[in-house]
Amino acid sequence: MTKIPSLQEIKDITRTERIGAHSHIRGLGLDDRLEPRDVSQGMVGQLKARKAAGIIVKMIKEGKITGRAILIAGQPGTGKTAIAMGMAQEFGPETPFTMISASEIFSLEMSKTEALTQAIRKSIGVRIKEETEIIEGEVVEIQIERPTQSMGAKQGKITMKTTDMETVYNIGQKMIDSLSKEKIGIGDVIKIEKATGKITKTGKSYTHRQDYDSIGPGETYIECPSGELQKTQELVHTVTLHEIDVINSRTQGFLALFAGDIGEIKAEIREQIDSKLSEWKDQGKAEIISGVLFVDETHMLDIECFSFLNRALENEIAPIVIMASNRGISKIRGTEYVSPHGMPLDLLDRLLIISTDPYSSDDIKKIISIRCEEEDVEIHPQALDLLTNIAVSTSLRYGIQLIIAADLVSKKRKADLVNVDDIRKVYELFVDVKRSTQFLQEFQDSFMF
Ligand code: ATP
Repeated sequence: MTKIPSLQEIKDITRTERIGAHSHIRGLGLDDRLEPRDVSQGMVGQLKARKAAGIIVKMIKEGKITGRAILIAGQPGTGKTAIAMGMAQEFGPETPFTMISASEIFSLEMSKTEALTQAIRKSIGVRIKEETEIIEGEVVEIQIERPTQSMGAKQGKITMKTTDMETVYNIGQKMIDSLSKEKIGIGDVIKIEKATGKITKTGKSYTHRQDYDSIGPGETYIECPSGELQKTQELVHTVTLHEIDVINSRTQGFLALFAGDIGEIKAEIREQIDSKLSEWKDQGKAEIISGVLFVDETHMLDIECFSFLNRALENEIAPIVIMASNRGISKIRGTEYVSPHGMPLDLLDRLLIISTDPYSSDDIKKIISIRCEEEDVEIHPQALDLLTNIAVSTSLRYGIQLIIAADLVSKKRKADLVNVDDIRKVYELFVDVKRSTQFLQEFQDSFMF
């Protein structure tokens, strides 16, 4: 029996596809003086907007602006989403990035404020430092017992000299293996994490191992399944606030994250988590990483959503909210008022606005070419020209979508280069919005009496 995908699964797939379309974006492509390079980090053209975005990122990083809400305004397909993703990447690799389309807020599953709250909390990262007891000291004695039949494995103990006492630490088979493998011996200064058995170099030892020469004091190793010791970045985990909410509000714990059954989360649970978090922050056990929440099609939000967002932005740990709009003057949903981008004036007033311009055909060609590379598609120069012309006369999105379809057509004829005919074929097969509307109008006319 075919399994009908759940709404959550469909939403997740849409989200993956939306991110996939921007997988070539690795930053804003600016130099040290925040000047945009013509083509860099997957970014092409749109120089003014990229520079403005870079300046905003710098100001936010330096804590020079409050409110932290941005509006990117421009025609469809002018790179608003791409620039928002580029900004998120400039904030650092751990920065959470959440992308929603304003229409997603309206569903039967949860209230719109709950949907917005979840989106906001998905955009706040929490770096939790691992809590574990660490024993540190100079190794003075290592005793390994021979395996006995009943034990089935070697057991042993390390005697370490710490600053004021002698510590005796019992170790297991895995650690004995790594001790012998890494030639940890008497006189070496090591750290052992009690909970995990991880061995940490403290700066004095390991000089005999060339691969560890670049490792600085206090860095940590983990034991791989192969038994090798491998350097870890830091003993920290990064999760989003939303993940903490879900784990704490469902009986199945973290498995709820995979079940897709998220639903509404009680306000009391969030309050408890927030107060625990500020405790952890004070004790230096956790650190907040403000992420980026991108809200596309903002004109679809209604007045209640706007005032909710306005209030949420006041919160000290609010993410950076980037809104995108391709509308001019329009009605604010839920009211009779019209305003720029269909947004209330008090919110507009606190936003920094960036505008994007339509692309030249040269820029479009470069973007298509980068996408071909990203999707591992070889394309003949003439086919690239044709695809560029198609994108110019229809839309950049449509042009990009034809790449993978044309590649499939070329593979079907066992070629490894997309040619002009492949592009023609897919252009006929998949209509763009203009042609599909035209077709429906003609169809309608022929049935009107
Ligand atoms: P919409 O208003 O329809 O949401 P948009 O303005 O957000 O559109 P994008 O979705 O960012 O436009 O752009 C369409 C496609 O072109 C995406 O795959 C995007 O990554 C790519 N793209 C847009 N601008 C650039 C750019 N300057 N450099 C590289 N790729 C770009």
